[in-house]
Amino acid sequence: MTQQQPKISIIIPCHNEEGNIEFLYSKLKQSIIAFPSHEIIFVDDGSTDKTILKIRLIASKDAFVKYISFSTNFGHQNALKAGLDYSSGDCAISMDADMQHPPELIPLLIEKWKEGFEVVYTIRKEEENIPFFKKVTSTLFYKLAGKFSETKIYPGAADFRLLDKKVVDEIKKLKENFLFFRGLVNWMGFSQFPIEFKAEVRYSGKTKYSFKRMFKFALSGITSFSTKPLQISTIIGSIIALCAFIYGIYAISIALFTYNVVPGWTSMLASVLFIGGLQLIMIGILGEYIGKLFIENKRRPNYIIREKNF
Ligand code: UDP
Ligand code: MG
Repeated sequence: MTQQQPKISIIIPCHNEEGNIEFLYSKLKQSIIAFPSHEIIFVDDGSTDKTILKIRLIASKDAFVKYISFSTNFGHQNALKAGLDYSSGDCAISMDADMQHPPELIPLLIEKWKEGFEVVYTIRKEEENIPFFKKVTSTLFYKLAGKFSETKIYPGAADFRLLDKKVVDEIKKLKENFLFFRGLVNWMGFSQFPIEFKAEVRYSGKTKYSFKRMFKFALSGITSFSTKPLQISTIIGSIIALCAFIYGIYAISIALFTYNVVPGWTSMLASVLFIGGLQLIMIGILGEYIGKLFIENKRRPNYIIREKNF
């Protein structure tokens, strides 16, 4: 932290957020009025609407506004990475573009940082503004991730957080392709402080996380942080083998001691289907990890920039 005026970087990933940019910008400016030394970095993640035009317009009037525009959609986490990579502040605050992360909270994040915390993260509370479907899937995700992951992922953790320059510098060094900041930041350590906030409803547009994307994100989040799912097959396999053994003994004794042996078509079919399904799931999990190795091995960049104004 510098002595006089610390510089604050604000990082905003945007994918098709044309209806939100101006409103967010004006609210943001009001909330950081006490921090004249700042930069606002919009990361346009391959938007196909007028997002980049809106950002360019703002940047042309405000020298504190920087932007990075990707060549295509590389995803929210990679957009965050780009913003952090190019940030130059004493701390960096990441937030969504849709006003779900209230800019009014920023002074509080900064206050905690000034008290000495290196990570100030936020937890979404009071879920009334979150659609039912999102609530269910997100609860399920945090339950699963909590079970499988060696790194704690807090329920309701949001990508709205402040990171000290030290933390940002460590993130800049990362070369991994499958980023999952909610786990990563926890894994990195440093002194952390949680702040609860009430998520607002999206100001304009609709969520970019469809069920398919959320499922992929959850799977990626878990498999990026844990190899525990790989152990499931060993555990379940052993249990099933034990059951099969006991059932085998039972079947043999029935055949030996009774004359009325029922043809076991149902149980046979059921067990074959069950084990078949199980095997497919396990192969899927293996595939998930092998796929990751394959992609990481290529060492492709996390994003490609088409244009930036600095
Ligand atoms: N986002 C992005 N790239 C994507 C998807 C989303 O940069 O591929 C941005 C989006 O513009 C928003 C933030 O990530 O600023 C969170 O997305 P969204 O609000 O759609 O997610 P939700 O709040 O529904 O979880
Ligand atoms: Mg949102």
